[in-house]
Amino acid sequence: MQVKKVFWDDPYLTELTAKVTSINGGMVTVDRTIAYAFSGGQESDYGTINQYPILNAEKIGKQIVYSLEEEHDLHVDDEVLIKIDWERRYKLMRLHFAAEIILELVYQNYNRPEKIGAHISVDKARLDFFWQGNISQTFDFLEREANRLIDDDVMIKSEFSDQASEIRYWEIENFARVSCGGTHIKKTGEIGKVSLKRNNIGKGKERIEIILV
Ligand SMILES: [Zn+2]
Repeated sequence: MQVKKVFWDDPYLTELTAKVTSINGGMVTVDRTIAYAFSGGQESDYGTINQYPILNAEKIGKQIVYSLEEEHDLHVDDEVLIKIDWERRYKLMRLHFAAEIILELVYQNYNRPEKIGAHISVDKARLDFFWQGNISQTFDFLEREANRLIDDDVMIKSEFSDQASEIRYWEIENFARVSCGGTHIKKTGEIGKVSLKRNNIGKGKERIEIILV
């Protein structure tokens, strides 16, 4: 039985009751969840199932397996309370979307360079590209355009493009529609303000580090 991913229906939910659907030692699955599991460069949430900290969350196909300490007292069919570390999740969501905007601006204005990596952590996001030269030459433009979109506080639509396969996208009218299974904020104004830093990672690769200021 596959888990209902309530973090998509309501990415602002911090607590949810669910039912345990399987247990294998410390590994637990539930019928619905708000605790995101690492995917698409966005880190897993921190949180608890009842009193037990989630030590690891792994997405396996459409299923999510949570690892708890082995000594838990949960049973299949138990009703449990799932809580997430909201402060951390909200920072991840804001940085994730800041990275979405920067990536789209790079694609649209600099000939879609090949992206070779992306990671969203709680205090910064990074995007890596194959890139000739110094990518910081784009930063005045990227920061200005990103912060303009943020100041305009526009709506971000998040929906399934294929519900059976759980493929999702986000869309900002007149800007972009992009495939992504992460958790997204509702309006760009939530991001605050974006600032970029360059990291030259060598061999024709450049990194954009994104922080919120
Ligand atoms: Zn996304």
